[in-house]
Amino acid sequence: MSASTVHLRVLRQDDPKRPETRRWEEFKVPALPQMNVIAALQQVQKNPVTLDGKRVAPVAWEAVCLEEICGACTMLVNGRVRQACSTLVDHIAPNGERITLEPLTKFPLLRDLIVDRSSMFESLKRVKAWIQLDGTRDQGPGPRESPEQQQVRYHLSQCMTCGCCLEACPQITERSSFIGPAAISQVRLFNLHASGARNAPERLDAVMGNGGIEDCGKSQNCVEVCPKQIPLIDSLAEVSRDTTKRLLFGWILR
Ligand code: SF4
Repeated sequence: MSASTVHLRVLRQDDPKRPETRRWEEFKVPALPQMNVIAALQQVQKNPVTLDGKRVAPVAWEAVCLEEICGACTMLVNGRVRQACSTLVDHIAPNGERITLEPLTKFPLLRDLIVDRSSMFESLKRVKAWIQLDGTRDQGPGPRESPEQQQVRYHLSQCMTCGCCLEACPQITERSSFIGPAAISQVRLFNLHASGARNAPERLDAVMGNGGIEDCGKSQNCVEVCPKQIPLIDSLAEVSRDTTKRLLFGWILR
């Protein structure tokens, strides 16, 4: 690391119901080797004194796995949506440049850098993003799945519900009810599963209504920001095809 300090500019708000508490605060903390943004925030937590010498409440943020698996630390770093845990300070500010941190804008704010991503989990419930089990008794070996299909599904299964794709999607607004690419990609994941396919019609019905696949504006921003490089455009195209088929021929299958 070339710089000896890390300069953070953090957008803060104490309470979602008190927008008047929204403000920028700046901190300088000691730089450590291989430091990520979370480690820089931990330094602020140790000594929450702003650049102008004011002692303030420690910055609030969320983090769980610290290995880009849980998605909890997703935030805007220098305006780009990403995980704070996998963002190395050295990579984005090699010479001690100022790093700007803001909370996601497409989710309700809780405090400082913490937002409420419950809407994503509600969307997963809406599309039944699970394999339905018929009891816990031994039912023998499950259906066979080709290695090729396993590969496709493995990639889709890496979604960590981080919200990057929703943050980047212009169709997600305060007035829209679009469920977003992540949940639609999970429809593809579970419909491709040999057992999960039994509930495919219900999943397709769930994305054919209000806020479903028809609301996708095909901006393709989602695939640009997905940290897991999930082929979201393929998922959107495939689910769109399947819903069209269901619309045209679904009554035959009832
Ligand atoms: Fe995050 Fe990618 Fe899942 Fe969207 S699809 S929630 S960007 S991991």
